[in-house]
Amino acid sequence: LTVDQKALLESAIRDIPDFPKPGIIFKDITTLLNNAEAFSTLMTHLKTRYESYNLDFVAGIDARGFIFGAALAQMLGVGFVPIRKKGKLPSTTVSEKYSLEYGFDEVEVHMDAFGSDKGAKVLLIDDLIATGGTAKAAASLIEKVGAHCVEACFILGLEFLPGIDSLTELTPVYTVIGV
Ligand code: AMP
Repeated sequence: LTVDQKALLESAIRDIPDFPKPGIIFKDITTLLNNAEAFSTLMTHLKTRYESYNLDFVAGIDARGFIFGAALAQMLGVGFVPIRKKGKLPSTTVSEKYSLEYGFDEVEVHMDAFGSDKGAKVLLIDDLIATGGTAKAAASLIEKVGAHCVEACFILGLEFLPGIDSLTELTPVYTVIGV
């Protein structure tokens, strides 16, 4: 990305203070999606980066990872796989729990989502990495069903949190914009 392109992407993402609760600054990417130039700049950048990876699939995390992931998979000519919150996928699933500040959450993937060949090369994508809990569970799931997570990609990385470092133990991490 050029300095101008990076500035365009940064200015297209909106900060919403105190959402969904006091103290959280929510990074709103809807304003990037509805800015045609910014969305296209981002997707072209990701296509250029991942063209040479010889991916078999792009897997997106529920729900904003679906938007970037599906667009990228189509551009790269590979299949898209949704990693969903528990209870949404209709066929046989494999699941992974992860802890939250209070309690836990769970993500699932279809057992046969990456085909029957072992070691399918998968790019994991989401809009943002904070604590990294969701992405770690998703990366583990990919390996659990016999595929391989070659990289985890985020549009935004919150660098004041240990999420990126901790995910790096499982898979290489790429963030387009660090905050
Ligand atoms: P985490 O598991 O803590 O890395 O949280 C990542 C997930 O929560 C991603 O799917 C993000 O979309 C969402 N998320 C966490 N923090 C924020 C934030 N400050 N702004 C927008 N989304 C967030």
